Amino acid sequence: MISPYDFCHYVGAGDKAMDAEFGRAHDRSLTLLTSSVPMLVMPLMLVPVLLAPFIGSFLGVLIRRLPDGREIAISRSACDTCGHPLGARDLIPLASFLALRGRCRHCAALIACFHPAVELAALAVAAIATWMIEDDLPLLWAACGLGWTLLALAWIDAEHMRLPDILTLPLLIAGLAVTGWLTPEDLPAHALGAATGYASIACLAFAYRRLRGRDGIGLGDAKLLAAAGAWLGWQPLPWVVLLAALVGIGIALTARWRGAAMTGTTALPFGPCLAVAIWTIFLYPA
Ligand SMILES: [Zn+2]
Repeated sequence: MISPYDFCHYVGAGDKAMDAEFGRAHDRSLTLLTSSVPMLVMPLMLVPVLLAPFIGSFLGVLIRRLPDGREIAISRSACDTCGHPLGARDLIPLASFLALRGRCRHCAALIACFHPAVELAALAVAAIATWMIEDDLPLLWAACGLGWTLLALAWIDAEHMRLPDILTLPLLIAGLAVTGWLTPEDLPAHALGAATGYASIACLAFAYRRLRGRDGIGLGDAKLLAAAGAWLGWQPLPWVVLLAALVGIGIALTARWRGAAMTGTTALPFGPCLAVAIWTIFLYPA
């Protein structure tokens, strides 16, 4: 920077020298500013990974309680076996499970692997998103929010064969809100995506019911594909459906290979397949 002494000195030396020194000082402060931006952004980019196990803990509560219509709390409150209330030190995601070697502090019953599994999955979502998105903080948070919600939806659909509106509809609205914020010029294409996503699966479900006389695909899947359209736009929706179908065929073949009986009427949840496809295409835009 220029000190008052230098300034007085330059006043006598003419405008040219002063302009040049101001230019250099400006360049120096600009270099300092731009070189410190990555240093500021780097730790912020790691926040989703650090928060992920806690988010996973909350997702575990959502997955367990939403399908039963139970009230949602921030964390689980008691041991599933002995009912003993859990304290703060029992509820640190992943760490408590490891420290207690997977057993309840009070009754020594094995803690279900469900909670650490969801926490690990949430951590994996954040780690993959951070790895894929290098320096765009808003996009990273969007990818994590989408990934975490899809994780809960996929898990609930795999266990209960349904996709709760209380998750799919806010996901749809969030997709439009994030688009309006990050790329407002894409908003019409994403709104059209939400409408075509819903309409295409709703028409398919109607046609299937007329042809076969039974339900083939649920309207929960239609709402999830509507959310996909809100996040991705209408253009990639055929790819989402194609990729989801491939994932579904892969799951069915694996199940058959492991000895499960698979027929034309075996019900397979389509939500987890859609979830994988939506998140993959969000991270790898064509
Ligand atoms: Zn217990």
